[in-house]
Amino acid sequence: MRTILVTGGTGFLGSNLCRRLINDGNQVICVDNNYTGRLENVADLRSSPNFEFIKHDITKPLDIIYKIDQIYNLACPASPKAYQGKHAIDTTKTCVYGAINMLELAKINNASILQSSTSEVYGEPFVHPQKEDYRGNVNPIGIRACYDEGKRCAESLFFDYARHENVKIKVVRIFNTYGPYMACDDGRVISNFICQALQNQDITIYGDGSQTRSFCYVDDLIEGLVLMMNSDCSLKGPINLGNPAEFTIKELASMVVSKIGTKSKIIYKDLPLDDPTKRRPDITLAMQNLNWKPKTPLSEGLDKTIAYFKGTCA
Ligand code: UDP
Repeated sequence: MRTILVTGGTGFLGSNLCRRLINDGNQVICVDNNYTGRLENVADLRSSPNFEFIKHDITKPLDIIYKIDQIYNLACPASPKAYQGKHAIDTTKTCVYGAINMLELAKINNASILQSSTSEVYGEPFVHPQKEDYRGNVNPIGIRACYDEGKRCAESLFFDYARHENVKIKVVRIFNTYGPYMACDDGRVISNFICQALQNQDITIYGDGSQTRSFCYVDDLIEGLVLMMNSDCSLKGPINLGNPAEFTIKELASMVVSKIGTKSKIIYKDLPLDDPTKRRPDITLAMQNLNWKPKTPLSEGLDKTIAYFKGTCA
């Protein structure tokens, strides 16, 4: 049995990952400050003798009595609504101080550590689809920079800890992911559209809806994270994880409307600053090195996500 620490463990990805790791027979320590995470996301796990929750902000060092085998570093507000505005500085601190604190913990424990990086490191991409060797086009002073540059700095820290401190690192760049345990008020496009449709509220497309995203169902993404963590030590990444099927936001809105049969009407709002016009992962590296590719088409994943939201926010 491995002892595995998951930061951001009560968040959307974190709670799905904790559940998977417990089901696989591991001891899981879930760490979160619950800023965007929610304890109710792990309510079903808390009775398990193999699950422990620690309320902690990873911008501070974490003293822990257990010997840790693996660390998944997922802690960070991840939706534009959560990381912009008054939480921008905390977002950068979480990326940077959080990475240092978790890398130090990995070093002391001789643990493998996986960093959840992001497609945001590519910014507004000039290369499409995005491959890992594309260095990106990020506005370093824009409203998304706290997250984008924070995550870029974290990648840099991970590779320096590997080079200079022999820490066993893994870096994945996660593209848009959706599914059960997202928060209704998270502000991301899939949760917004589904919850708006279920509540017969206007469906808010930002800009003209021609911008694209590629949406990965959460179970597929979690499988990729676990495969990457347990891959050969020599495979450090960065590796893209996401679903290469690309949709416009307008197409997504139509799919949600027709699936839910809502009375909602579609309205258009201003496009937020620095909102990327397109995004799609090239997942060749993940296919070759991890034998991984997503299995869930958007239509099927939306059905499962709608069923989840019907039970929580309708
Ligand atoms: N978006 C939208 N309506 C919403 C929320 C988001 O049109 O209610 C758009 C947003 O402008 C972006 C895309 O959907 O172009 C994805 O946004 P999200 O916040 O989910 O993730 P991002 O990829 O921007 O981090």
